[in-house]
Amino acid sequence: MEAVIPVPPSPAIPVHGTAALFPVRRIYCIGRNYADHAREMGSDPTRETPFFFGKPQDAVVPGGGAVAYPPATANLHHEVELVVALAQGGRDIPAAEAERCVFGYAVGIDLTRRDLQAKAKDKGQPWDTAKGFDQSAPISPITPATTSGHPSAGAIWLSVNGTERQRGNLDQLIWSVPEVIAHISRFVALAPGDLIYTGTPAGVGPLVPGDRIRCGIDGLGELEVVIV
Ligand code: MN
Repeated sequence: MEAVIPVPPSPAIPVHGTAALFPVRRIYCIGRNYADHAREMGSDPTRETPFFFGKPQDAVVPGGGAVAYPPATANLHHEVELVVALAQGGRDIPAAEAERCVFGYAVGIDLTRRDLQAKAKDKGQPWDTAKGFDQSAPISPITPATTSGHPSAGAIWLSVNGTERQRGNLDQLIWSVPEVIAHISRFVALAPGDLIYTGTPAGVGPLVPGDRIRCGIDGLGELEVVIV
């Protein structure tokens, strides 16, 4: 059937070491999943029930590169995160079976308008403008789990203009990848093409136009972004 408007493009992420693409369906993000970052944001890093929020499918910036400093903020922050790419989904997925749903893993940045997020927190308003803006989800090529395995430890780091800002280890995740998948699937049906940003370690901070960001995770490669 003919579409009445141009059909919107379907975002897709390169798969490391191949010419294949991973098409994106939805983007979920977990908040406060490293104790030291929860503390720096003024929260108590207990194992309180994880919470999640979304970004639009087309917020991805596959392979990084130039990202425009977004309007309506004076405090754009970087959050380097392990991203999980799902090959299978379902509802009420038990944590013990969740790794079977994973296609692979990537390095991502959950770009955040920290000033708008603070205002939203104060007023009990949603985080959409703080988290779900254009180009707010840079992501590296995806490494298939058949290559990387399912990493539960390894360095995760981010530098700006050559100065390290964030460094953590995947073994510091409060909620593991299988637990995160199990949790989200209790609220929505997960499906092939879903991406999950799993939270950031401490050291988040502001970006300005001209900043050159490099970040990486052991075994999963690196991602570079320039704020323009
Ligand atoms: Mn985040």
